[in-house]
Amino acid sequence: MTKAPSPRKKAAPKVPVKAKRTAKAAPPPKKKPAPRKKAVPKPKSKPVLDIVMAASECAPIAKVGGLADVVYGLSGALQSQGHNVEIILPKYDCLRTDHIDDLRMEMEELWVPWYEGAIHCSVLAGSVHGRDCLFIEPHSDENFFFRGAFYGFDDEPYRWAFFSKAVLEFLLQSGRRPDVLHVHDWQTALVPVLLYEVYAHNGLDKLRVCLTIHNFKHQGTEDAGILHATGLGRPEYYFDPQRMGDINPAFINFLKGGIVYANFTATVSPNHAWEVRHTDQSFGLGQVLHIHQDRFGGILNGLDYDMWNPAADPLIHCPYDSRDVDGKYGNKKALRQRFLLQESYRPIVAFVGRLDAQKGLPLIRHALYHSLAHGAQFVLLGSSPDPAIQKEFEQLKWQFNDNEDCHMELAFDEEAAHLIYAGADMMVVPSVFEPCGLTQMIALRYGTVPIVRAVGGLADTVFDWDYSDIPQDDRNGYTFHNADLPGIESALNRAIALWNHHPRAFRWMIENGMKQDLSWSGPAGHYVDVYQYIRHK
Ligand code: ADP
Repeated sequence: MTKAPSPRKKAAPKVPVKAKRTAKAAPPPKKKPAPRKKAVPKPKSKPVLDIVMAASECAPIAKVGGLADVVYGLSGALQSQGHNVEIILPKYDCLRTDHIDDLRMEMEELWVPWYEGAIHCSVLAGSVHGRDCLFIEPHSDENFFFRGAFYGFDDEPYRWAFFSKAVLEFLLQSGRRPDVLHVHDWQTALVPVLLYEVYAHNGLDKLRVCLTIHNFKHQGTEDAGILHATGLGRPEYYFDPQRMGDINPAFINFLKGGIVYANFTATVSPNHAWEVRHTDQSFGLGQVLHIHQDRFGGILNGLDYDMWNPAADPLIHCPYDSRDVDGKYGNKKALRQRFLLQESYRPIVAFVGRLDAQKGLPLIRHALYHSLAHGAQFVLLGSSPDPAIQKEFEQLKWQFNDNEDCHMELAFDEEAAHLIYAGADMMVVPSVFEPCGLTQMIALRYGTVPIVRAVGGLADTVFDWDYSDIPQDDRNGYTFHNADLPGIESALNRAIALWNHHPRAFRWMIENGMKQDLSWSGPAGHYVDVYQYIRHK
């Protein structure tokens, strides 16, 4: 078996990817008298980068989960740091076009090679809250993106292989030559493979690729047919386990190919970067990460502070901030009215998220029972593409239909999500694994105390009120370790008891969370460091 040559020639030096973000910036050092110095020349201004993002989601126009928030938030932060960013997405029929301004034709004729022929695509351009977006619309019988949903089809690998190829073909044919192409998750992980095996020889030789993995569970596997469709061919070459060969020898693995070929691969928190290399959380990709460890790291996600801002959120009832948390109680009242909960002196515990096994479904269910049994109210907002899970939660909803202390909304509803973040007192996130997790970060920003299992990015962002070893002023929630009932019960009991018996301490914890810097400004800077580093390789 031949050994796959690395697509990069030189050994990569360590990239300065920051370690864990602490709850707050360290206090400034005490002032010393300044020594007399020569005038320091001004640092040269940093070069402006041309960055293209390619992804399957972008908030709010195509959102299923956190990936959408990251593409939206990171692009905005990079732009505000002076870089040029374009986002390439599929032109889904279910895009929320009410958030797209100035939609227009950018390229009428983009022919993307596919099997022995080519598929005709058009490319539209538009602006999404100040972000330049491009939408690739294929016109073929497959109707890749005209299906009324973002995901969930039998030919997913073909949809995304086609999109990945179309992205590169568009860059080539439109004459765009960005410095960096930033791709996300398995759906666009074939981009670096196609780039280094095909497009680098056709004119995109200067382009560098950063891959961010938001979820290792979904890797994209397919048989040799995909190599034929994309024109990569040579199954014996790509099925090599050093390249894209999956654990199942009948398949190639898109995400693995992305890791092997990308110039840098990031996952979405430092703790998860450790977990995927040293535990079973990489779902079989630990060894390939180990081989390519010198260009792999963790960068914690940020939050878009314009989209998630309780002081100026048009989707909530009363604006508030960390200096005036009282506005939260107006939102609590509005939340109760909307969800027909009784008005009484008790905390509201909430869950917002995809109803997926990853999110710890038995613990979510148990949190509901336990909260109600301990004098709290419970609100759940979530949905699942899996009919069995959806049905199970519909039965649960039916069971609590007449309960004035419980409400379940089994849908995707952005507006309801904002109101819950603003109106609830506590947010449970009992995930089995959680690469970063945005719900706990949004909850912190909205003064809703997170109760989380200490895994992945949850452990990087939530610091236990009672047991953390950091200063009390930085502690912001509750953590538990074991994915079992006593674990979540003990954390919930501690939170509910503090809310009931020590409201001032509870408020102190709320304010700690709200003061925490969860913005994109730091993480976007780390990504820029990565872009600069790979540009010079
Ligand atoms: P994941 O990416 O695994 O879905 P994250 O915590 O990283 O989880 O991000 C979830 C994002 O999706 C958050 O912005 C959350 O508010 C949002 N979200 C999840 N489910 C729903 C829903 N049913 N309605 C509205 N927003 C939702």
